[in-house]
Amino acid sequence: MSDGSIKKLVILGGGTAGWMTAALAAKVLGKVIDITLVESDRIGTVGVGEATIPPIIHFNRALGIDEREFLTATKGTIKLGIQFENWLRRGDSYMHAFGSIGKNLAFCDFHHIWNRSRLRGDTSSFWDYSLNYQAAINNKFAPLTHIQGTNLPGISYAYHFDAGLYAQFLRRYSEGRGVKRIEGMVKEVRVRSDNGFIQGLLLESGLEIDGDLFVDCTGMAALLIEKTLGVGYEAWSQWLPCDRAMAVPSASAKPIVPYTRSIAHEAGWQWRIPLQHRTGNGLVYSSKHWSDDRAREALMSNLDGEPLAEPRVIPFRTGRRGEQWCRNVVSIGLSSGFLEPLESTSIHLIQTAATRLMKMFPHRGIRAEEVAEFNRQSRVEIEHIRDFIILHYKANQRRDSDFWRDCEAMGVPDTLSEKVELFRRTGKVFRDYDDLFSEAAWQQVMIGQGIVPEDYHPVADALSDEQLGDLMASLRTLIDGTVNSLPEHEQYLPNVG
Ligand SMILES: Cc1cc2nc3c(=O)[nH]c(=O)nc-3n(C[C@H](O)[C@H](O)[C@H](O)COP(=O)(O)OP(=O)(O)OC[C@H]3O[C@@H](n4cnc5c(N)ncnc54)[C@H](O)[C@@H]3O)c2cc1C
Repeated sequence: MSDGSIKKLVILGGGTAGWMTAALAAKVLGKVIDITLVESDRIGTVGVGEATIPPIIHFNRALGIDEREFLTATKGTIKLGIQFENWLRRGDSYMHAFGSIGKNLAFCDFHHIWNRSRLRGDTSSFWDYSLNYQAAINNKFAPLTHIQGTNLPGISYAYHFDAGLYAQFLRRYSEGRGVKRIEGMVKEVRVRSDNGFIQGLLLESGLEIDGDLFVDCTGMAALLIEKTLGVGYEAWSQWLPCDRAMAVPSASAKPIVPYTRSIAHEAGWQWRIPLQHRTGNGLVYSSKHWSDDRAREALMSNLDGEPLAEPRVIPFRTGRRGEQWCRNVVSIGLSSGFLEPLESTSIHLIQTAATRLMKMFPHRGIRAEEVAEFNRQSRVEIEHIRDFIILHYKANQRRDSDFWRDCEAMGVPDTLSEKVELFRRTGKVFRDYDDLFSEAAWQQVMIGQGIVPEDYHPVADALSDEQLGDLMASLRTLIDGTVNSLPEHEQYLPNVG
């Protein structure tokens, strides 16, 4: 492989992926390499992608971004979890709330204790013991590292933000740290004849941009990684049946809730993402089961405010690129693959890919071992997320449409069926190395989707019935008291509270 050192990084694409990568590269390597970002205003960005998960906080902190400035600039709100409505059955609802639940005992996660209590007739819900859930449904929020007077963790949160404003915010950040932005459409990609590496980009304006390492952030166009290098695509449509989305913004509805809503319909599901100035809405659906007209009708009749634009259709194909890094091209963002937005994981995958690239930055030349390790880590990471998303579809008890019946009947990856069976029989669930989702996340979605364990860990039997009752009651009191002491979510938002 090339032994040429990497002095010039070229990022092609100025959506969330391009600007997140540029911002991190500027922060980490801005003093030692030259960074250029090319984007085309004519093509624009995908314009969706507004819900995140808690690790985004680390990304912003790593960049040294002030939270208030960030929430002001992006019209952001707080996100404490995702409420899944009608997923198990019509009328049913549960939340994947961030953070932990209850109080673990030695080697025994809290859900075992809850399950023992349940099997003895306790009717309290698993979510009665989630601080995040109780804060979310009561519209409360304040940063809280732990519950006062205890060593129990406090609130875990992420953000909703306006995708266009976030890209602009990161653009200002990156340009302020030396990133050179060039506006223009790439009309030709120049490839070196000796090793197949990309040499440069030729813009319609005639400008040529050479580089040592290229980051493909061209979204679904995948101009470098696929159209030029042709690495191939591993599609996962056999497990993830939706292949289209329709997005539309609507006027804000009050109160501005601190969670994303995911509302299942007959052939897909609808998101509602509350921002300070509007609500982001969209419907993710299966074209095999629903026409665009049918999807449009379902979306437009389920808005909680006036639509602010015409709905826009976005076709997609779930899956991943054969290789995320090939020769001197690293693909980040939608160019590297796509998992539908059910658990808001795409921006997170941008964050981890950009971080991985910084950690493995090939400053003295690209080595095959490094590329292989980068690709291995990327593959394992996205496969874990894939399984978690499939779980929501597979474990449904809806029988009211072909779509849900097809989901229930489909085969799933062995990695997922083994995990579900272990949980169903024993209550045990383990977070694999590199799995983004914690045990508490798996527990909530499995229980929420009707997979309630038949058994529990023996440590839960160490408590007498009375001790068990006291523990459960005291936890509920502690959580209710903490939630009552929190301010309203909107008070935390600049220009709203
Ligand atoms: C329906 C839907 C909902 C989503 N919801 C969420 C969510 O809630 N949470 C989440 O984390 N993620 C979500 N995502 C994913 C998220 O939108 C993307 O991960 C994110 O926006 C990154 O996109 P991108 O930057 O890769 O691509 P884009 O935004 O498409 O940007 C591509 C860039 O490449 C440039 N470009 C392309 N071709 C050329 C060319 N020839 N010359 C010059 N420039 C070029 C374009 O101008 C643009 O700047 C969602 C995705 C979809 C489809």
